[in-house]
Amino acid sequence: MNRSAVWHPFTQHAVEPAMPLIARTGGAYLETSDGGRIFDAISSWWVVTHGHRHPKIMAAIRDATETLDQVIFAGLSHEPAEQLASALIDMTPAGLDWVFYSDSGSTSVEVALKMALGFYCNNGTPRSRVVVMEHSYHGDTIGAMSVGARGVFNAAYEPLLFAVDTIPFPAAGQEQKTLDAFEQLTCDRGVAALIVEPLVLGAGGMLMYPAWVLTELKRIAERCETLFIADEVMTGWGRTGTMFACEAAGIAPDILCTSKGLTGGSMPLAATLASDAIFRAHFSRDRAKTFFHSSSFTANPIACAAALANVGIWKDEPVAQRVATLSRMQVQMIARFSQDPRFENVRTTGTIAALDLRVPTAGYLAEVGPRLRAFFLERGLLVRPLGNIIYVLPPYCVTAGELDRLYATIDEATELANA
Ligand SMILES: *Cc1c(COP(=O)(O)O)cnc(C)c1O
Repeated sequence: MNRSAVWHPFTQHAVEPAMPLIARTGGAYLETSDGGRIFDAISSWWVVTHGHRHPKIMAAIRDATETLDQVIFAGLSHEPAEQLASALIDMTPAGLDWVFYSDSGSTSVEVALKMALGFYCNNGTPRSRVVVMEHSYHGDTIGAMSVGARGVFNAAYEPLLFAVDTIPFPAAGQEQKTLDAFEQLTCDRGVAALIVEPLVLGAGGMLMYPAWVLTELKRIAERCETLFIADEVMTGWGRTGTMFACEAAGIAPDILCTSKGLTGGSMPLAATLASDAIFRAHFSRDRAKTFFHSSSFTANPIACAAALANVGIWKDEPVAQRVATLSRMQVQMIARFSQDPRFENVRTTGTIAALDLRVPTAGYLAEVGPRLRAFFLERGLLVRPLGNIIYVLPPYCVTAGELDRLYATIDEATELANA
């Protein structure tokens, strides 16, 4: 066989072992071309919600291909996009009245940032500073990287990244420092927007903070007329226990980004929802005030049909109940490690559980990360630690037995901690 020509994402090919080929997916499992089964404990990078290849989503995709493929979305529209926009407005916090489609989480963030700056510019009160939270991740395009944490991931591109103001992560007992820092930045200087991952900072290490901090941040943003952007790309669609994480804080952001679980994880699609005020700032007979953004595959009809089927599943199946059950199981199962000296920061929010393996040197590049991943894979489990941070973020179809086996393997994996 010729060597593969594929350059994989976030992959150091010099040290990566041969990659299994996945030939089939279903429920919580990936099947390799030689028939092996791998339990997908991370929902294929946080996208799959109900399970792989949910029959209703697959059927909706097949049906959509009978009538539509890509259609230019400037000057034309189509039913799947129209219906999905109405559904999204119904399902998201009140006050989000407009839906702008794109095709990935990173793009939905770029759109959000452009909407925020456009809002101030078009209103004749230009503002350009953006406030971000320490340890955030918002994607890998230049703008999304700019508002994310700086580190080994983006050191080479640092000269291209724009400057932002960073508020500290609201660690337990330190929340007031975060709020004070935000208040000082926004109310003294007038910043355009705050962008946050509500409740859980994903790629930054599955860091969790309480909903009341979010409520307070929103209150400060409102008082100082700073736009509040909720990046719900990872947290949306039940992941943190409610449909969207903002619900837990009782807040309505000015802009909300959603992607990953939007199609149940089946197709690439993203949406940036905006308030009427933001739309109105771009609504003018002056064509210079147009929102100048597009991707070729904006609102792909087949992806929109998949998302509509996902919305249907939330309405017709007891998904909220499954999410609640999974959330309870996570609390129960991870409890075995809460007093365990081999771990620290044992935590859950909704369906997500995480814990830090104590190792001599922590951090994303901790040597233990790839060794843990290999250890799990040898046992038929797809787990992808962020350095020494192990997290469990399964699809909602997971059973107690499957989770139990996974946690038993985490218990065994600690033998790698000091090796
Ligand atoms: C994954 C992620 C993104 C980027 O989404 P892509 O589809 O990978 O571009 C943005 N924000 C958050 C919070 C994410 O978890």
